[in-house]
Amino acid sequence: MRFTLRSLDGETVERGVVDGRWTEAGGLAGESFGTDLYALPGLVDSHAHLATAELNFEPGVLGDAIDRARDALLAGVTLVLDKGWSDTTTMDVISTLDRSERPEIEAAARIIASHDGYYPDFGQEVTGEELDGAVQVEAESGAGWVKLIGDWPRRGVGPLANFTESELASAVARAEQHGAKVAIHTMAHEVPSAAVRAGVHSIEHGLFLTEDDLGLLGERSGMWVPTVLRSEMTLGQLGADSTGGKLFQEGLGNIKSLMPLAIEAGVHVLAGTDLVGAPADVAAEAIALSRYGLSNRQVVDAVSSAAFEATGRSSSFEIGREANAVFFSATPVDDLAVLEHPKAVLRLGRLR
Ligand SMILES: [Zn+2]
Repeated sequence: MRFTLRSLDGETVERGVVDGRWTEAGGLAGESFGTDLYALPGLVDSHAHLATAELNFEPGVLGDAIDRARDALLAGVTLVLDKGWSDTTTMDVISTLDRSERPEIEAAARIIASHDGYYPDFGQEVTGEELDGAVQVEAESGAGWVKLIGDWPRRGVGPLANFTESELASAVARAEQHGAKVAIHTMAHEVPSAAVRAGVHSIEHGLFLTEDDLGLLGERSGMWVPTVLRSEMTLGQLGADSTGGKLFQEGLGNIKSLMPLAIEAGVHVLAGTDLVGAPADVAAEAIALSRYGLSNRQVVDAVSSAAFEATGRSSSFEIGREANAVFFSATPVDDLAVLEHPKAVLRLGRLR
C-alpha cells in the first residue's frame, strides 16, 4: 500500500509500507492513501494514567485500562507517557495488549512519595534515605520512567517539599543507571527549581517554574508538561478565594508568562491529560495550551513532534521507521479543532 504524507508546511512525501515499516514508494502500484489529507506521526499524551479514569486514587482495572489504550489509538494517539499509579496496571496493559492495538507506551510503575507527602497509602512511601532504593525498584519494574511526588500540601502550611535537592539528584542518577527518566509532580514554589538543578527529566504541572529553571532545563532539552486543564479543574474545585485556589491562580498566571519563554529556551513543552479526560482526549489539553501563549504551530508540536523528539524518536516519516501516522482533513495549524477529529490512524502499517 502507498501513502501520501502531507506535512504541516504542505510538503508531501510518498511512502510504502512493508512489515509495518516505511519504505520507498517507487514501483508500488495502486492509488495512494492520504492525497487530500495532512499527516502527523501521531498525537502524544505526555502525562497519562491509563490505570484509571479519574483522580479517585482507586486501584487500576486492567480491562478498562486496555479499553482506554485502544481508544487512544483510534483517536490518533501513537505514544503515551504514563506517569504511574499506585499499582502496575499500565505495565499489565503493555504486556497484555498487542502493540498494533494500542499506542507505544512509556510508563512509570508505582508512584514514589514521602510519608505524608501524597495521598495516604498510595504507591511507594519512603524516607529520603530510602528514595534511591525505591527508585531502583520502580525503574526496574517500569517502562522507562520513574515518577516522584516532589511536593504536597500539609494542612495549615501549604505545599512542602518531599525530598531535598541532593536526594533528588541521587534519585536521578540511580534512575539513569537503570535506564529510566525521572518525572516529578510539583505544584509548589522552589521545588521545581531544586528538581531542575537535580537533573530531573520532566517537570509535571510546574506551576512555579522560574525563567532560570527554563534556561537550565532547555540546555538539556528537558520536558515540561504543564497540564493546564488539570490545574484549572483543581482551581475550580478549591474555589478562587481559598488559599489553595489563590496558589493555583498565581501558578497558572506564571505558566502563561513562562510558556513562550520555555519554548525559546529549548524546553520540550508537552500536552498531558492527567485524568482530565482519557489519553484519547489529549487534543483538548493541546488546544487549551493556546490560551497560555503558544502559537497554533507550537500547540501542534506540543501534542506531537516535541514529545517524539524529547523521547529520542523520529518525528518524521523516515524510511525504515515503524509506519505510524494520524491523518487530518485540514492542517491543524490553521484550525486546532481538527486535532479532535482525525480522519484515519495508521499503526504499524495498518489503517484504522
Ligand atoms: Zn498525574
